[in-house]
Amino acid sequence: MSRSAHPAGPRHADVLPEGHYSAPPADLNTLDPKVWAQTVTRDDEGVVTVGGIDVKRIAEEFGTPTYVLDEADFRARARAWRTAFGPDADVFYAGKAFLSRAVVRWLNEEGLNLDVCSGGELATALSGGMPAERIAFHGNNKSADEIRRAVEAGVGRIVLDSFQEIVRVAHIAQSLGKRQKVQIRITVGVEAHTHEFIATAHEDQKFGIPLAGGQAAEAVQRALQLDGLDVIGIHSHIGSQIFDMSGFEVAAHRVVGLLRDIRDEHGVELPEIDLGGGLGIAYTSDDDPREPHEIAKALTEIVSRECEAARLRTPRISVEPGRAIVGPTAFTLYEVGTIKPLDGLRTYVSVDGGMSDNIRTALYDAEYTVALVSRASDAEPMLARVVGKHCESGDIVVKDAFLPADLAPGDLIAVPATGAYCRSMASNYNHVLRPPVVAVNDEGARVIVRRETEEDLLRLDVG
Ligand SMILES: *Cc1c(COP(=O)(O)O)cnc(C)c1O
Repeated sequence: MSRSAHPAGPRHADVLPEGHYSAPPADLNTLDPKVWAQTVTRDDEGVVTVGGIDVKRIAEEFGTPTYVLDEADFRARARAWRTAFGPDADVFYAGKAFLSRAVVRWLNEEGLNLDVCSGGELATALSGGMPAERIAFHGNNKSADEIRRAVEAGVGRIVLDSFQEIVRVAHIAQSLGKRQKVQIRITVGVEAHTHEFIATAHEDQKFGIPLAGGQAAEAVQRALQLDGLDVIGIHSHIGSQIFDMSGFEVAAHRVVGLLRDIRDEHGVELPEIDLGGGLGIAYTSDDDPREPHEIAKALTEIVSRECEAARLRTPRISVEPGRAIVGPTAFTLYEVGTIKPLDGLRTYVSVDGGMSDNIRTALYDAEYTVALVSRASDAEPMLARVVGKHCESGDIVVKDAFLPADLAPGDLIAVPATGAYCRSMASNYNHVLRPPVVAVNDEGARVIVRRETEEDLLRLDVG
C-alpha cells in the first residue's frame, strides 16, 4: 500500500502496490450517475457537458486543472438534507469539506446552517453572509482569539472539546458580558469506518471528552456551573465515509444514556444532541450511499426509541454532513500530458495537477475513478494509473483505472467526486498553483474561487 509519503526519486518496480481494480467496464464512455454530478452527461459528439456546458469550453476559458462544481446538484443535495430532517432538526454543513462565499450563500438560501473550525472558516462564513446564530464553531484547539471573535460575532454555538476549553470559553464570554450557547463534544467509543464500526470502551484520539470513566458527565457538570455558558446539548461525531448506520445506533444509545444521567443527577434535560457528520458517498460504482431521507428516518427513530426507553423528552437533533453534500457535486478536470506505458504493469498517465489538488489518494489510499471527457472513444481499455506532476512517486490521483488505449496528450480527463476535501486540502507543494473552482449553473460557468497565480505565491515570500 502506498500510504506514506515517499522522498523524491524512483521507486523500484518490485515494491509497486498490488492493484485492486475490477474488470474494465463494458463501455468506457458510460458515466455512472452515482459518481458524477447530476447534470453531467455526454453530448451527441461524445464530449462531456455539465449544466449544458462542454468541458472543452470550460478548459479553454478557465484552464486546467480546474474543479468544476455543479451548483444545481449542490443546492439539490443541500435541500434534500434540509427537507429530510424537517423543521424540528438542524442541518449544519461541515465547512471544512469545501467552503467559499458562494457556497455560504447557497447554504443560506437553502436553509442550512454551517460548521466552522478555524478563524479563517469563520471569516469566510460571516463574509458570505451566514447569520452568526446559524454558525457552529468546532475544533480541539481553538485559540483565545478565535473564541473571542466567535463569541463577539454571536455564533449560535461553540462545541467545547476539553475541560480547559470549558473554562476558557466561559471566561471569555463573561469578560464580554455574554452567555455563550455551547455543546459538549464527547467521544462515545465508536470508531466508524466505511463498512464496519467498532464499539469500544475508550477512544484513543484527540477530539472530545471521553464518556468513559465519567469524564463527559463531569464536564457537563462543570459547564452547567459556569455563568458564561448556556449548555444546550451533547455532540458526537463518529467518523467519516460511513455507510453502516449501526455505528450511529451505538453512539445515540450512549449519548442518550449520558442525557439520562445528567437529568438524574442535576435535574436538567439538555434540549439538543448533535450526531455529527460522516455519511459516505460513492467514489466508485462499488459504493452504495444512502439517501438523506433514509438517514434522517433512521437517526430520528434511533434517538426517539432511546429517549423513550430513558423517559426523556426527545431532544432537537442536528447533523453535520460535509462530504455527502459537496463531494459528488464536483469533478476535477485535467489535461493529459506524458503517457508512459510500463510493459506488463500499467500505463502511467500524467496530468497537470496531482497530490496538490487531491491529497486523498496519497493520504488515505482513497479510491477514485476517471474518464476521458473531451471525446468518446471506442478503443480497447488499458489499465492506467493517473499521476500528477509532483516530485514524489506517491503522487497518485487514481491508483487503478481503465482509460481508452488511444488516450493522447492534450485529451481532457476528469476525476469525479472531488467536491469534498480536495480544494480544501490543496497545497502549494512544488510551488504548483492551486486550481480554481468553477461553478456551473443554467446561466453559465463562473469562477467562485480563482486560480492561484505566481504573484500570489511571491506576495507571501518577502525576500
Ligand atoms: C469532519 C466533520 C464533519 C463532516 O464530516 P463529513 O465526513 O464531511 O460528513 C462533521 N462534524 C465534525 C465535527 C467533523 O469534524
